Amino acid sequence: MTDAAVQAALTELVIANRILAREGVIDDFGHVSVRHPTDPNLYLLSRSRSPEIVVREDIIEFTLEGEPIDQNGRPMYRERALHGAVYMARPDVRSVVHHHARAAIVFSLTGKKLKPAFHMASVIGHDVPVWDSQAEFGDTNMLIETMEQGQSMARAMGGERCVLLRGHGATCCGNTLREAVFVSIYLKENAELVLQTLPLGEPNYLTPGEIDQTRAMLFSEVPQNRTWDYRAARAGFRGL
Ligand SMILES: [Zn+2]
Repeated sequence: MTDAAVQAALTELVIANRILAREGVIDDFGHVSVRHPTDPNLYLLSRSRSPEIVVREDIIEFTLEGEPIDQNGRPMYRERALHGAVYMARPDVRSVVHHHARAAIVFSLTGKKLKPAFHMASVIGHDVPVWDSQAEFGDTNMLIETMEQGQSMARAMGGERCVLLRGHGATCCGNTLREAVFVSIYLKENAELVLQTLPLGEPNYLTPGEIDQTRAMLFSEVPQNRTWDYRAARAGFRGL
């Protein structure tokens, strides 16, 4: 384990928590994790705490099954199974965000698909599937608390960046922590934009070719650094 890499990951994860709170993606509930920088069979996630107030000392290492390496009496998020399930299913994924952004939830309720309507939202991809816990698990407390539930959600997500959870929220992922944060913010903002547009008529969504080209551009290094620096500054980490 290179301590410098772990320390850098902890710093970035704390900033990601604050960004997602500042941008209104995560509120009192919801969480963000990152795969361990040197051991792909572990991930880093805060203890059960609202992201707005997460600090380095809150971060716990977990196995992909959701077992803490050193819990040290700290309460844990009940829905950590969804993080491990995505990391198991997707070796490409290095970060997972779970949130309850209300505008996104709207598109889990009626069968109307959420699609990218503006260029920044190309990062949500061609398809945003909806996972309904009813289909396999019937009436539950709506949380993803078991690995079976997490793996069911991960199957619904497939190779996409986002999956909506019917009547609950969304899970987003990225090849980097910065990507996962970026996708989460624009999933929410795209949903808001579509909801603003619908009273005027059906949106003229991005074409598949526009999604591919725009997404490739936005996931390149310069835009990723630019958005991270901006969002970090808004979250109180100006000039790091
Ligand atoms: Zn949740």
